[in-house]
Amino acid sequence: MPKITIDGKELEFKEGQTVIEVASENGIYIPHFCWHPELSISGNCRMCLTEIEKIPKLAIACSTYATDGMVVKTQSESVVKAREAVMEFILINHPLDCPICDEAGECKLQDYAFRYSRGESRMLEEKQHKPKRVPLGPRVMYDAERCIMCSRCIRFADEVAKNPQLTFIQRGDRTFVSVFPDEEFDDPYSMNTVDICPVGALTSRDFRFKSRVWEMSNTPSVCIGCSRGCNVNVWVRDNVIQRLTPRENPDVNKYWMCDFGRTKTFKFVNAETRVDGPFIKENNELVKSNWEEALNLTAKRLKKFKPDETAFVASAFATVEDNHSFALLAKLLNAKYYSYFSYVIPGSGDDILITEDKAPNALGAELVKFKANGVSNDLDEIFEKIKLGEIKAVYILEQAHDFDSYMLDALAKAEFVAVHATNFNRLTEFADVVFPASSFAEKHGSFLNVDGILQRIKPAVATVELDRALDGLAQSRWDKFGTKFDRWAQGKKYDAEPSWKIISALAAKLGKPFNFSTSEEVLIDLTSKNSAFRNLDYNEIGGTGIKIIERKFSEEEKI
Ligand code: SF4
Ligand code: SF4
Repeated sequence: MPKITIDGKELEFKEGQTVIEVASENGIYIPHFCWHPELSISGNCRMCLTEIEKIPKLAIACSTYATDGMVVKTQSESVVKAREAVMEFILINHPLDCPICDEAGECKLQDYAFRYSRGESRMLEEKQHKPKRVPLGPRVMYDAERCIMCSRCIRFADEVAKNPQLTFIQRGDRTFVSVFPDEEFDDPYSMNTVDICPVGALTSRDFRFKSRVWEMSNTPSVCIGCSRGCNVNVWVRDNVIQRLTPRENPDVNKYWMCDFGRTKTFKFVNAETRVDGPFIKENNELVKSNWEEALNLTAKRLKKFKPDETAFVASAFATVEDNHSFALLAKLLNAKYYSYFSYVIPGSGDDILITEDKAPNALGAELVKFKANGVSNDLDEIFEKIKLGEIKAVYILEQAHDFDSYMLDALAKAEFVAVHATNFNRLTEFADVVFPASSFAEKHGSFLNVDGILQRIKPAVATVELDRALDGLAQSRWDKFGTKFDRWAQGKKYDAEPSWKIISALAAKLGKPFNFSTSEEVLIDLTSKNSAFRNLDYNEIGGTGIKIIERKFSEEEKI
């Protein structure tokens, strides 16, 4: 393999790699604004200048290809001076907006100003003034004064979103980013430009001014908006989710996520419709109850019906662990009807990230469903029998989307309906018992994405239950991935529990406890029963997931 020496370190590289790529692969940081590993090379910011033997002038590392025997210095005196000059040039017209800029705290320019600039300005003249607060589209706001013309946003729209909606207008220090007149930047992936903008020129209209970056905790998790399972960070202040941002995972979402996932998949967690504590139906009204009463009532009613009078409807919105516990409960009660609900919108996917399956765990629900001789897994048959009055009791796991009206009409005929729900919705209106389920942001668990990659979710928001267990959780081994508990002290906490835990408590009431005390124990139980999950625990899944199944979820398997 050819070799290059960077800062005295001899490194192997692959043909076609640039100096910045080799350096970054080997943990050598070369400062840059316009270079991005997933975008074409622009080479306009000049921040990555390096000294290369046998090249008379400094060369930019982003567009210089590594060659065998090349010797590169990234910290020499001439490089340091050149960087200071580049920083001084970029800062000539950059406003002193940091105290009011959303990017402050995670801004490349701010960080580099500390690390690589002279620390003082020689600019006495008036700065160039340009438009501020320009809505580029429904979700992205532009500040032309802050823009350093790196062109990352333009290249992203062209190359990743495949939607060339952005361009530069004007020349020199009057240049700014724009869309065509009377058009707007409304691409379904537009908000990724906010992440990759190295300064605060592009900001999220959904998040602007909600919180300073350093006031929030951030927890690695997975988006629940579709079966892609894009890796995200959940940003929380005072126990309220403020925003989601994409987390790098080369095998799932690279650096990106869609705008729907970013803006529409978390607000239910802190919505007024949250189910806060168990509810039972009295005189046709759901009234607040308590765990003991709700569990006792459900156990009593489930015991009353015969196995062929009871149906279990699992969920592609609940975790693998929740679905596995649910299947165990169905087995315990000799269920004859067991299926799961998913939500597919044909034609709604694209060839970037968005899939047609709008649930995060359809493949997981399919893999762990309760199957046995004499058990029907046909959801249509189940609802037909509920409608005919043959199935009298229905137990339904978390559903993020309303059932079709024919399903709701059928449920109206059932004698007993128990539902796990994060929020009140049309389905809960038909329930005799509503158990408050923890949302994806309030529990440990795993989802199996469309490509068979099992990925972890972790609590970012505290519930009453998690708050109680705070000390134990803070020390538990899977929290080393970065869950921060310090922001949990303040803010509203809902009385909700993960579905696997509610089901375990119900099994105990039915006289056959499962004895799970953590969701990881539920997963480990599954490893002995389902070969796809063998040898797994939460450490094994790690921070970016593990591929456990090769095949894709076929059309026939979708329910
Ligand atoms: S708006 Fe941001 S990403 Fe776009 S050119 Fe300006 S600085 Fe670069
Ligand atoms: S593509 Fe799917 S998983 Fe990814 S951010 Fe969008 S909705 Fe979420």
